[in-house]
Amino acid sequence: MDKKTLKEQVISIIDNMAPELKEISLFLHTNPELGCQEYQAAQLLAKAAERHGFSLEKNISGYETAFIARKGVSGPRIAFLAEYDALPGLGHACGHNLIAAMSWGAAAAFAAVAADQAVSYFIGCPAEETTGAKVAMAEDGVFDNLTAALIVHPAATNTIGGTSYATHPLKVTFHGRPTHVASKTDKGINALDALVMFYQGLKPLRHTFTQETILAGIIINGGTAPNIVPEVAEAKLTVRALSSAYLEETVLPAVRRLADGVAVATGTTVTALHYEPLFKELINDPQLLPLFQSNLALLGETATVLGPEAAGGSTDVGNVSHRVPTLHPDIGIGCNLVAHTPDFAVAAGSDYAQARLLVGAKAMAMTAIDLLDL
Ligand SMILES: [Zn+2]
Ligand SMILES: [Zn+2]
Repeated sequence: MDKKTLKEQVISIIDNMAPELKEISLFLHTNPELGCQEYQAAQLLAKAAERHGFSLEKNISGYETAFIARKGVSGPRIAFLAEYDALPGLGHACGHNLIAAMSWGAAAAFAAVAADQAVSYFIGCPAEETTGAKVAMAEDGVFDNLTAALIVHPAATNTIGGTSYATHPLKVTFHGRPTHVASKTDKGINALDALVMFYQGLKPLRHTFTQETILAGIIINGGTAPNIVPEVAEAKLTVRALSSAYLEETVLPAVRRLADGVAVATGTTVTALHYEPLFKELINDPQLLPLFQSNLALLGETATVLGPEAAGGSTDVGNVSHRVPTLHPDIGIGCNLVAHTPDFAVAAGSDYAQARLLVGAKAMAMTAIDLLDL
């Protein structure tokens, strides 16, 4: 059968799956679960895959809520990646309920038409907003030997291309010596003063980098009581650059030198530890991009094409993209929306977004068909 006919078939399968996909998306939306606690979501998605004849593997890379569903024996190995974690206090303000439903629809439709000539993988990837299960899964080789990994994220408008920031979450802790603030004989060593000095040094430090860099942070511990010179002060930073190489070879050493210099100047000691794994920058595969773009066009959609240095956020899909050709475009669910806001959470549960997820699922399945050896 030719690719045109197969594409028509996946479109009609996904249209027929619309009630199931909407139910999945809205169940996740009304039952938001944080990273590593997505038990209901993972179970719902895994059961759907089993019902459609996928084999199932659970507990992947130490994540109880990760799974790998697979259908087909040989041929190109196409993975559709699902995310399903929500944000604290905001619910599905990143629209991962839509990602789960889109990837499931695409995986099911692709398997339905191509199980005899390709392998369809539906891979459940927890905790994108926190530790990023894909980091450990990528290190464990889960994505190795795939032909392609596909995932579509909801956003304000359709975009393809671009990248994401390589990101190091860093916890910086200064240790001083406590004493009474009114002591005439012992002034102690103020860890908070040191931390504030460090924090203020971040902005001028940023100006020394020749590549785009983000140094953002919050103070999470500034002492225990105002009448005690703070013994410990801690900040959490997100340190970002457009490449993990520049981040690790230039930016992080400079941040550590700043912290060490402040420690020497103030008589404190300092530690700087990664509290979550590194997310690498996203590489959108140049062969997959035009395929997805032309399939969107077949569906009557246009998309803004982003340059290779256009980064909006960071994602653990970046780590996948360093192992296997990866595609991570955005599908529009409403102009002017910004992810991680209450408005985005409302939009992710709207009827419009449930219709838009069908477009994303179709374009993914159609792109998988382009990868068949026909
Ligand atoms: Zn997010
Ligand atoms: Zn997201």
